[in-house]
Amino acid sequence: MQNTQYGPLGFYINGEWIYRSDGPQLEVYDPATGDVLAPLPRATPEELDRAAAAANAAFPAWKALTALERSRILRKAADLIRERADQIAPLMTREQGKPVAQSRIELMVSADTFDWCAEEGRRVYGRSIPSPVKDMEVRVARLPVGPVAAFTPWNLPAMMPARKIGAALASGCTVVIKPAEETPAAALAIVRALHDAGLPKGVVNVVFGVPGEVSSHLIAHPAIRKITFTGSTAVGQHLAKLASDAGVKRCTMELGGHAPVLILDDADIDLAVSTLVPSKFRNAGQICISPTRFYVHDSLHDRFVDQFAAATSRLVVGNGLDTATNIGPMANSRRTAAMDNLINDAVSAGASLKMGGERIGNRGNFFQPTVVTDVPVSAKIMNEEPFGPVAVTARFSSLDDVITQANRLPFGLAAYAFTSATKNVRRLSEEVEAGLLGINNVAVSHPEAPFGGVKMSGYGSEGGIEGMDPYLVTKTVTVA
Ligand code: NAD
Repeated sequence: MQNTQYGPLGFYINGEWIYRSDGPQLEVYDPATGDVLAPLPRATPEELDRAAAAANAAFPAWKALTALERSRILRKAADLIRERADQIAPLMTREQGKPVAQSRIELMVSADTFDWCAEEGRRVYGRSIPSPVKDMEVRVARLPVGPVAAFTPWNLPAMMPARKIGAALASGCTVVIKPAEETPAAALAIVRALHDAGLPKGVVNVVFGVPGEVSSHLIAHPAIRKITFTGSTAVGQHLAKLASDAGVKRCTMELGGHAPVLILDDADIDLAVSTLVPSKFRNAGQICISPTRFYVHDSLHDRFVDQFAAATSRLVVGNGLDTATNIGPMANSRRTAAMDNLINDAVSAGASLKMGGERIGNRGNFFQPTVVTDVPVSAKIMNEEPFGPVAVTARFSSLDDVITQANRLPFGLAAYAFTSATKNVRRLSEEVEAGLLGINNVAVSHPEAPFGGVKMSGYGSEGGIEGMDPYLVTKTVTVA
């Protein structure tokens, strides 16, 4: 076990770190023990106004820097995150629960994300259009939209802020971010790296508070021109309405999923099991692209389930600070309660509990890795994102039927398939309704590739060459 000093926690407004013990406070808990880690100040409306005003005041000068100057700061911050990863990773584990090796990987990907954004910011090209009118120049410019309000969740406490801040800054925008109140230290460490890399004051501002109060205040603030949110579909819908009412403000919405996994009759079962087990139980299943609904061809179902359960039974559940741990606690007690509810409902609907299904101990939010088989389509877990350490299976016998099942829900974030036939790959690529499709693998998220959903999983891409678009407006300029 490592000994880690957690806190103090505060805001970062206009280039200053604000730690205050007076005024309204929240508390941050260790999900492995239930102990309070540190108090967290709760922003007042005046503090939110200061953060928005700082982002607004910093915008003209940040926009006026060259893309290369902005890029250098992001690259320096990326290097600092890598240098500090061994110190930051245990803090992330203490507040969020995931094993420290997973926290460290997340920090490395956050640094890579800053690097990618630093590079792409230098390639925000406009264009020149052959004019249809004599003696006229027609140009297209792409310009930063303005100060951004960003809201990020607790499951990827460094990566989600890095995606939003990296792309916004590289595009020339300034930011007010409200990271999740459950996991403030990781987000603050990312912003500390930017501060130490020489970020001008006011370009990024960090606040915490009651989520509904902060988002409604910031979205309505006249300085804010763009909203970006990652979290549940219900909250995303609410924020998109607020953004519309506040003046048709632009939004990027990365919302929930319920990723289907299609194991076709020609699948390599060993590959499927060795790939899917670590992916399913990464961060205790609390990942929006976690493989969730396992549709297995009837001829392979029982063999797949036996092998999957055997591999799962070798995973160690424990405190994420212990290097032997594969699965940490769930992030909060809402998640363990949701697991109880969904698994009990599936079993009452006729599913078989192959393994797990119970909380572990009475301290912290530990839950057994769980496999539930032959789950009827009517069970809640087949329809609501479980966001936990549970794999649910159902059988199928025709490709048409399984594609229908995969597309049945109103979500479309990630989907996966295992098959060795090229004709199946072609069909799945065309017909599965998802923003991300992994075939014979689950690695669908990379800084270099666009990440985002379809249907009620949201809109707008993060990453890839598309990742700058949400932070840019397009202007056509004609010169006679
Ligand atoms: P929740 O919807 O209460 O919170 C999810 C995140 O949204 C939290 O970080 C929270 O601070 C933030 N949030 C909530 N209300 C907000 C508001 N009005 N304004 C701004 N931010 C707000 O859910 P939860 O109980 O923490 O998690 C449950 C569900 O959330 C999961 O089942 C999952 O579907 C979804 N979730 C999705 C992601 C993702 O990456 N897409 C991440 C975390 C949670």
